[in-house]
Amino acid sequence: MIRFEHVGKRYDGGFEALRDLDFELARGEMAFLTGPSGAGKSTLLRLIALLERPSRGHIRVADIDLSRLRRRHIPYLRRRVGMIFQDHLLLHDRTVFDNVALPLIINGVVDHRDVSRRVRAALDKVGLLGREKYFPVTLSGGEQQRVGIARAVVTRPPILLADEPTGNLDPALSAEIMQLFVEFNRVGVTTLIASHDLALVGSLGFRRIGLEDGRVVIDHAGVAA
Ligand code: ADP
Repeated sequence: MIRFEHVGKRYDGGFEALRDLDFELARGEMAFLTGPSGAGKSTLLRLIALLERPSRGHIRVADIDLSRLRRRHIPYLRRRVGMIFQDHLLLHDRTVFDNVALPLIINGVVDHRDVSRRVRAALDKVGLLGREKYFPVTLSGGEQQRVGIARAVVTRPPILLADEPTGNLDPALSAEIMQLFVEFNRVGVTTLIASHDLALVGSLGFRRIGLEDGRVVIDHAGVAA
C-alpha cells in the first residue's frame, strides 16, 4: 500500500532528513514509526501525504507513483490519506461538527443530510456522538484529539497517518487513543503512526520501524495480527 524506494529528502539549506530509505507497508498493515526527535519521522509521513516532495527515489501510495502524479490527481490521493497531528490543528472558532465536516466540504460533498450523516458516523467511531455543537476549547485534550481523528476518517480513507497523536496526553488517554487506531486497522485501514512512546508501542505488539538520522535502523515484525 505504501512503498519507499531509495527515498532521500534534503531540505533547503542542505540538511538530509531522510537517506536512502526503503520500506514497504502492506495493504491493511499497521506499524509504528519510532526514533529520537529529528530522526525523520514527520518528514516520512509528510512525504506520504504529499505535504513534501522527496529529493530522490520513488514513493508509491495505493499503486500510485507519487513522482508521476499529475497535479489534478493530487486531491484524489489526499482523499485516500487521513492525517492526524500531535496538536490536532482544530479550528477553534468552529464547532466540532464544522471541524469534522471540513474535509467533506473541501471534497465537494454539499448535501447537508449527507454531510451530517457522515460527520455523526465519524464522531460515533471516536466516542463523541452528541458533541457536534461544542467548541473545541470546551473539550479535554483527549477529546480534542478524538475530534482530530474523526476529521481524518470522515472521508473513509484507506490509509491513516498519525504524527505523535498521543504526544500531549497522559498514559491512560494515550492508550485509549491508540486503541482507536487499532480498531480502524481491524476494519482494514492501513495505519502508520509516529510515536516516541516505546512502552505503549511495545505493549500493542505491531510492527515497529525505527528511524535514526533519516535511516531505518530497526524493522521488527509485530506479533499482533
Ligand atoms: P522527527 O519527526 O523524527 O522528529 P523530522 O522529520 O521532523 O523528525 O525532522 C528531521 C530533520 O529534518 C530535523 O533535523 C529537522 O530539523 C529537519 N527539518 C524538518 N523540517 C524541515 C524544514 N522544513 N526545513 C529544514 N529542515 C527541516
